[in-house]
Amino acid sequence: MKKIQMVDLKGQYEVIKDEVNASISNVLETSAFINGPEVHAFQKELEDYLMVKHVIPCANGTDALQIAMMGLGLKPGDEVITADFTFAATVEVIALLQLTPVLVDVEPDSFNIDPVALEKAITPKTKAIVPVHLFGQCANMDAVLDIAEKHKLFVIEDNAQAIGADYTFKNGKKLKAGAMGHVAATSFFPSKNLGCYGDGGAIFTNDDELAHTLRGIVNHGMYERYHHDVVGVNSRLDSIQAAVLRSKLSRLDGYNASRRAAARKYSKAFEGNKNILVPQMANSCKEICETCDCHVFHQYTLRILNGQRDELVKHLAEKQIPCGVYYPIPLHRQKAYLDERYDEKDFSVTNQLVKEVISLPMHTELDDEQIDFITGTINKFIGG
Ligand SMILES: *Cc1c(COP(=O)(O)O)cnc(C)c1O
Repeated sequence: MKKIQMVDLKGQYEVIKDEVNASISNVLETSAFINGPEVHAFQKELEDYLMVKHVIPCANGTDALQIAMMGLGLKPGDEVITADFTFAATVEVIALLQLTPVLVDVEPDSFNIDPVALEKAITPKTKAIVPVHLFGQCANMDAVLDIAEKHKLFVIEDNAQAIGADYTFKNGKKLKAGAMGHVAATSFFPSKNLGCYGDGGAIFTNDDELAHTLRGIVNHGMYERYHHDVVGVNSRLDSIQAAVLRSKLSRLDGYNASRRAAARKYSKAFEGNKNILVPQMANSCKEICETCDCHVFHQYTLRILNGQRDELVKHLAEKQIPCGVYYPIPLHRQKAYLDERYDEKDFSVTNQLVKEVISLPMHTELDDEQIDFITGTINKFIGG
């Protein structure tokens, strides 16, 4: 059996090596390292793929979130509501901009922001909502967008984990993750579903004026050379990363299909084990999941219901099976983000999830033998 890896970037590279090496050498030959033709071509191709009007490439996903919030003109003291169960980057940029992060609980099935908790947290100071499409499945965007419209709030999608996912609204309309809010941010960190070979990120929007603002912010607040109209940052996707991303974007649907196929095999193998809860399709995804790309499995995350999650982590390490606990501590209990207004009773789902979740190896190169070994080992250890 091939050695099992959490993410197999080398195996994926081997398949596209000739094409990627040629496009990287082309960048080296032309030496257009910054803002070169590869960056523009990638931007255009991603706009077409996502069916959004504007893609603004930048240096990483954290910058993308920060720049999106800067572009919306949010002011210190404005409250921004996001999910308690996410990667720290989401809340970090809110705090960095001196906005006030307001963390709320998540749904037990999708692990995404709970619309009831969200609406309860709205105050006159609330200006924006950041739904995170965690692990590759969209948040309940029917509810999030309704609430946002009712209370006149901006919606900033954190799409770092769900690029390529579809969301089907209750009325049947279908959009790509990242094309639903006022603005969205994504990451091209190597292990993401669309990852480059270094750091990268992008912001998406359908709003022409906001897109113009964002293009200036990523470039030192310049709209005309050496005229600095607003305070900006320096955040660029370089041409080598763009060249890699072009090759991988053309294969993204195939990559996501491989992830879904692996996820199906995992879930089948755990069927009937009552101590293991496999990833649940939530909201609109529930009915249509067999026929659409509504979950792109950035992570395949189980809930271990018999209290043995930590023992399982140790056992898998002994068997040389990598795994991850995303995330072991809820953000509302992280030192940097403590807030005396929080009440533990309001975080019952996140508090439970951090004790139960375990993410299994998930990438485009998993084979049946590896999946059988992983599921066999887990089913033997967690009887049910
Ligand atoms: C990866 C990630 C980010 C940050 O992306 P970077 O490119 O690493 O800065 C933000 N939010 C979520 C949910 C992520 O998973």
